[in-house]
Amino acid sequence: MAESPAPLIGGIDAGGTTFKCAVAAPDGRLLATLRVPVTTPETTIGACVDFFRWEMKERGTRLNVLGIASFGPIDVDPASPDYGTLYATPKPGWAGTRLSARFFSALGVPVILDTDVNGALAAEVDRGAARGLSSAAYITVGTGIGASLWSSGAFIGKPSHPEFGHIRVERHPADREFAGVCPFHGDCLEGLASAPAIARRFGPPETLPADHPAWEIEAFYLAQACAVLFYTGRPQRILLGGGVMQAEGLVPKVRAAFGHLLSGYLGLTDGDIEALIQRPALGEDAGLFGGVTLARQAMANSDWTA
Ligand code: ZN
Repeated sequence: MAESPAPLIGGIDAGGTTFKCAVAAPDGRLLATLRVPVTTPETTIGACVDFFRWEMKERGTRLNVLGIASFGPIDVDPASPDYGTLYATPKPGWAGTRLSARFFSALGVPVILDTDVNGALAAEVDRGAARGLSSAAYITVGTGIGASLWSSGAFIGKPSHPEFGHIRVERHPADREFAGVCPFHGDCLEGLASAPAIARRFGPPETLPADHPAWEIEAFYLAQACAVLFYTGRPQRILLGGGVMQAEGLVPKVRAAFGHLLSGYLGLTDGDIEALIQRPALGEDAGLFGGVTLARQAMANSDWTA
């Protein structure tokens, strides 16, 4: 009798505009992927479920586990009755959506869920720009700002997750009038440095040339964010990801502003700062690898009983 194929791992990068789904081999290699535009929870989740069912049928095997790296805010405490449920979100129809429970009931496999930024960092530690290190951090700068801190094999902030986007920062001298876009705090980090904050005073970030003064202001805020993370958790690497970080020349500007902020404290050289603050390595598929990596890590845990 022919040996049946090994069970697969499912991964979802649940973003605010697109859900990306993947089935992966036990070693984490992606075998098939699908992009689903976000509409209503019913349609979006339904399309993802159809993809996984189809892949299982075609490959004659099943999923062992599904890992979801999700936008938030979301309950990430496995011990909570609301595990995997989205809290109040400006996305119409999505507040209160029980993401984990819906996939569990539709597919009948254990679902592991964490924040998108924890997923991205898990993947970078596993196979990307933080491989081989014992501590690292990740800041994602897009529609919102989020951060993940990882040290000695564990994420900081459990059983919840950091709300790093809402720290306060010193205002740039040329940016004192802008009220900020955070509905709660106005000019917190997210209120000043997220993509909507850039768009509100300068225009869409993707349309701004590299020499636009907006980028000096942006770097000034992101350098403060890096300094807070660095002083607090002393990560060996800080990865800057998300749509805004694709701007040409922004990372070198952040490094320069970071060096200026530290003012020689701790004796970091330019080379040290270049090694510390980097772009993620996994590119477009980072979030998908995030979901898959979260699932693989859960399977590797000693209490895993799939
Ligand atoms: Zn805020």
